Order: sequence, then structure tokens, then C-alpha cells
Amino acid sequence: MTTKSSNFIHNIIEEHMRNNKYERVHTRFPPEPNGYLHIGHAKSICLNFGTALLYAGLCNLRFDDTNPSKEEVEYVDSIKEDVRWLGFDWGDRLFYASDYFERLYEYAIQLIKAGKAYVCDLSPEEIRLHRGTLTQPGQESPYRSRSVEENLDLFERMRAGEFADGSKVLRAKIDMASPNLNLRDPVIYRIMRAEHHRTGDKWCIYPMYDYAHPLSDAIEGITHSICTCEFEDHRPLYDWVLEAVDIENPPQQIEFARLNLSHTVMSKRKLRQLVEKGFVNGWDDPRMPTISGLRRRGYTPEAMRDFCERIGVAKANSVVDIAYLEHCIREDLNRRAPRVMAVLRPLKLVIDNYPEDRVEMLDAQNNPESPDMGSRRIPFSRVIYIERDDFMEDPPKKFFRLSPGKEVRLKHAYIIKCERVVKDEQTGEIVELHCTYDPETRSGASSDARKVKGTLHWVSAEHAIKAEVRLYDHLFLKDNPEEDEDFTSNLNPNSLEILSDCYVEPALAGVNPGTRFQFLRQGYFCVDKDTLESGLVFNRVVSLKDSWAK
Ligand code: ATP
Ligand code: MG
Ligand code: MG
Repeated sequence: MTTKSSNFIHNIIEEHMRNNKYERVHTRFPPEPNGYLHIGHAKSICLNFGTALLYAGLCNLRFDDTNPSKEEVEYVDSIKEDVRWLGFDWGDRLFYASDYFERLYEYAIQLIKAGKAYVCDLSPEEIRLHRGTLTQPGQESPYRSRSVEENLDLFERMRAGEFADGSKVLRAKIDMASPNLNLRDPVIYRIMRAEHHRTGDKWCIYPMYDYAHPLSDAIEGITHSICTCEFEDHRPLYDWVLEAVDIENPPQQIEFARLNLSHTVMSKRKLRQLVEKGFVNGWDDPRMPTISGLRRRGYTPEAMRDFCERIGVAKANSVVDIAYLEHCIREDLNRRAPRVMAVLRPLKLVIDNYPEDRVEMLDAQNNPESPDMGSRRIPFSRVIYIERDDFMEDPPKKFFRLSPGKEVRLKHAYIIKCERVVKDEQTGEIVELHCTYDPETRSGASSDARKVKGTLHWVSAEHAIKAEVRLYDHLFLKDNPEEDEDFTSNLNPNSLEILSDCYVEPALAGVNPGTRFQFLRQGYFCVDKDTLESGLVFNRVVSLKDSWAK
């Protein structure tokens, strides 16, 4: 489960170890509980927990809960579940940035006393205008020169709730002419009356990310603070905060490129929009790139970790083809999913020369890739269902499935020949096929010598279990749905197809949600949680056809 291949982050860590910069490696995964985790977070989880495992270090799970207006307990719970499901264990190292509010406040007092922070009365808009641009230096706030005493007094009164939301902020006093805009006296505290999911209404001032994050890292003894590249420009501020409060041997921030996947979006804000506007059926909709969605779809933690390992860690942003993720789950399920037969679009087929009351139990191997998975018995009888697509009345040349007068093999059973087609008199639709079977051709029998080109899956009509099957396609039509202003305009209208008249072989009676199978010739399928209420429901995890070009 450790991250096996080396990457540039591991090279930095190994350099630090050689120089005895830190005694041990200590990382953290710091989600903000403002939504469900997605596969991009899985990459960060694998990297942070995997790195700690690799160097026999520690990894914390820390909720970065400094913005109460968007955070909820529901998200905290889902994040814990997802990290655990991915196979990682934070042990007793579960933390909340909100646990540090008092200490962060004391650090702010320390900054004020050192003349490194001041209370500013400019409005957010004025602060923005004063900040300047890349080519223009910023303008100092008229409040920048307030005395330490006045700042202490005002900041204490901010905490005490004497001022209206947004009327004052605490700013770090750094450099209004810095070429790095993040250093132009960034806001580090704001006034906001909002119920916090852990601290309730104890606080009406909240620390900003750029201030709370480095200090939370330092408080926990983090050595390597791994984050995504958009924080590269914030690193000088990260370092400034730690130096300004005299943190010894501060943690090192290291940035890597965030994961982007084709045909989907990967930001909690956008994913929340999909949920709230009803474009999907919740955060765990199997079309979502969330960990909970992929889990419900039928992804395994092993395949997700394998994917995160294989895409590697880089500095440069890129978009990974979603076909690569599909390739990883297909490989995993190929090894471990038992094969069964399921007919998704049934066509009735009667074997006229098969005795009416006979039921044969046929032997079927569960997984030819893993012989130790054993075999099962499948009932065969006179009336079966085959896939509608597997019959053509007037086939083109290379159609090796069933057509009038032609022969195919029924998987694990016999060779049959199509003798007659029955149609609905009104609509002309084919409603039934009549065939004969050759009793000498039973699969596995010594007389099983005759070869035919096509082999079809089937189920015995009397014994099969009815099921609903949900087929999924990409959530978005475009590779990069975000290239348009309204990304929802690129939603794929056909991302979900529900087939409610499917039949699966009786071995699947009573299967539990989360169980995965290969439906022969169709793909990999996973039992959905809706099964508990409405009978068997399957999600297609992925089809058999691999579109990943290596
Ligand atoms: P989002 O924009 O999706 O809300 P975020 O970065 O705001 O993402 P956080 O909850 O702050 O979400 O993320 C926790 C950790 O996961 C951070 O360290 C962040 O860098 C990392 N992370 C988030 N998205 C990705 C991604 N697409 N690829 C890799 N790491 C990511
Ligand atoms: Mg964040
Ligand atoms: Mg975010």
C-alpha cells in the first residue's frame, strides 16, 4: 500500500533525511469539510498517507474547518468514511483546525505586539483596490500605522463582538510593494457571525486559510506540507507566518500538480452545483467523480490506489484521460470478479426438441483468470432468454451470432440452431425464437468437438431473477467541460440509461450491495444499495471494451 515509485517529493524528503533536517516524516491530509471528496483528493490522500508509510512516519487527518459558512458535519463524516475506505488509517491523529482557534488567536496577539499585524477598517473592495496589480505596487492602508496598543484593543474588541461583520479585519504587515500580491498585507482574520459545526457561536472572528494553515501544520509537528500548485505563490506567506511567530524548524511546503480528469469536473463547488440543481442524484451518484460515487459505481479501493500510483506526481498540470481510470478498474475486476450470465435486453428462445420438464444443472467456472475461484451450477431448460442484439433476421456477412438457419453455442451448454422466428402480428416485432439443440454438443463433454463461431450468454427463463441494470456513460460530453462559461451546458443527456427488464442467473439471489461481477460479454457490474428496497439493481462499473491507448 505504500507509494512504491519514487517521485520528486520523495527526493526532497530523502534529501532532508540525509541532512537530518527532520527527525521523522510527518504529513497531513487537510480537507475542508465543505463537500464530499473526489478522486483528486484520493490522489492527495494516497500521496500523504503513502509517503508517511513509505518513510515509517506519521500522517494526520486534519479538518481545515476555518470557514463555518460552508462547512457541515455531514461532510466531516463522509470524508472519514472515504479515507478509511481507501485503506488509510489516521489512528489517533484526527485533528480540527478549529481546535486551535485559541492558539491561533494568541499567535495573532503575538504578531500585533511585534508590530507585524494591524487592524484595518477598509472595506473588502477598498482592500482589493489598494492591493495594486502585478505591474503596480499597492497602496498602504491609512490604518497601517495604528499603534500596537490600539491594535490590541481593537482586535480584542473584534473577538468580543463589538463590530459588525466585515467592518474590520486583521492584516499581516508585510510589504505593499512586494511583487508577490499575496504578501501585500494579506487579511488574516475576519469578522463573521456564523454558527460553526464544532465551536458553535463561541467565535465571531475566523482566521484565514493562509494564516491558519501554516500554524496548524506547525502545531501538529508536520514536516512536509504537501499541497497543490495553486499554492506555490502562497509559499512565501506560509514561510513568513511561521517565521513571524518564531516557529523553530518550520515545516516545508511542497506543491504538486492537481489531478484533472477528462469528461468530468473536479471541484467541490461545481460538484455541489450538480447535486443541488438535480443534474445528478446526490454526491454518491455513480456518475460523479466523488469517492463515494465511484465506490457506489463499483470501483475498488485497490483500483483507485493503483490509479493514483500510476498517474504519478508531477509539477506540471495535465488532464488524465478518464479511460485510464476505467482501465485500472477493469484490470482489477478482471482478476477478482466472478463471471455470471445476465441478459440485459431479453428475447425469448424456445428449444423445441428439449424435453419440457427437464432441468439440467451445468457446470460453469467462476473466473477463468483465477481458477481458485471455483465453479457453480447453472440451470438449463427448454425456454431461455438471450440478448436481443444477438439475433438478426437478416444479418450482414460477418455476423456470427444467431440468425435463421444458423448455429451458435450457448455458453456452458449446447449448440443450437434457429429454426423459426415469431413476430407480433401488429407491430412486426420479433417476440420469440424457436430453435433446436444438438444433444451431442454439451460443453465439456467428450463429444464436444463440433465448433461454431458464435457463443452467446443466456439465462433459463423459469429460473432467472429479474433485475434493473443502470448503464452509465461520461457525465460530460466534452473532454474539458470547464472550457465553457456554463459547464453544465456540456452535461451528457445520456449519461444514465436504466434497463428495468433484465434477467440474471439464479446464483445471484440475495447478493449484497457492493458485490461485483463480470456479466459475460457485457462488462463489470456492481450491486447497488437500492437493491435493498426494490429488488436487484446493478450499476455498470465499466464495459469490457478498453479504450485506453497505452
Ligand atoms: P476543491 O476545489 O475541489 O474544493 P480543495 O483544494 O479546495 O479542492 P480541500 O478540501 O482543501 O479541497 O483539499 C484537501 C487536499 O486535497 C488539499 O491538500 C488539496 O490540495 C488536495 N486536492 C484537492 N483537489 C485535488 C486534486 N484535484 N488533485 C490533487 N489533490 C487535490
Ligand atoms: Mg482548500
Ligand atoms: Mg475548494
